[in-house]
Amino acid sequence: MLIIGSHVGFNKNDQLLGSLKEALGYGANTFMFYTGAPQNTNRGPIIDGLTLSAMELMKEEGIDYSKVIVHAPYIINLANGDVDKFSFSVRFLKEEVIRCEMLGIKYMVLHPGSHVGLGVDTGIDNIIRGLNEVLENSTVTILLETMAGKGTEIGRDFTEINRIISGINKKELIGVCMDTCHMHDSGYDVSDFDKLLDEFDNIVGLSYLKCIHVNDSKNVRSAHKDRHENFGFGEIGFESLINIIYNPRIESIPKILETPYINEKPPYKEEIEMIRRKEFDSELKEKIK
Ligand code: FE
Ligand code: FE
Ligand code: ZN
Repeated sequence: MLIIGSHVGFNKNDQLLGSLKEALGYGANTFMFYTGAPQNTNRGPIIDGLTLSAMELMKEEGIDYSKVIVHAPYIINLANGDVDKFSFSVRFLKEEVIRCEMLGIKYMVLHPGSHVGLGVDTGIDNIIRGLNEVLENSTVTILLETMAGKGTEIGRDFTEINRIISGINKKELIGVCMDTCHMHDSGYDVSDFDKLLDEFDNIVGLSYLKCIHVNDSKNVRSAHKDRHENFGFGEIGFESLINIIYNPRIESIPKILETPYINEKPPYKEEIEMIRRKEFDSELKEKIK
């Protein structure tokens, strides 16, 4: 069965129940959210009653909650070894793990980090050190996202991802989230997805793959830009993205849209419909007003 959803909001009044209802409104059967604004540290308390109501509704709707994803705030940068910045990132990530545990979330996606000029080797060492500390008291699995290679981003290829995983003590709590836009921007040919999966399997191991962000890209392959485009409207294109989504080797893995809003409105309902129909609608952008 296709497991498809999008990034949704999470606000302090409705919390998980609000996120779920937003996802259901898009015709989704999974979703991903930040537990607060990704660019700041303001986080209110988790309200158990809302979590329980959401769990009940998911049961009714047949949604597998174990596949719902949290995205860690992107102000976390474990690759930066500066004492203050590193300890901030570790502390904040630990807090996010606790929030995921309170919400019953199993998987949290994390950008590995940017080495900010320290070099890839030092950056990777810092990430490993930070993750080992965070995972020591965690029941949440952290998924390293494949990155576009913008600036000094680490995780631009499967080898860098594997170097991080190799250093992790608790391998059962580490995994990978692929992002199609990022892989395309970092230089991978995502149009031959079986070949890409083979390469990933050889270098990292397919069993580590737990989530995939299915975004199109505004830029040509190897551009290292990381600018998402609406589904089928970018340089990857509809056919390649559909082939990725329906690849039987990753059938059980949740597919998440992080495509841009159109006219300040979320395009996810329309994009999910298009994905289910397997038919590109070139007028989709004009229809969302
Ligand atoms: Fe991300
Ligand atoms: Fe992503
Ligand atoms: Zn991105």
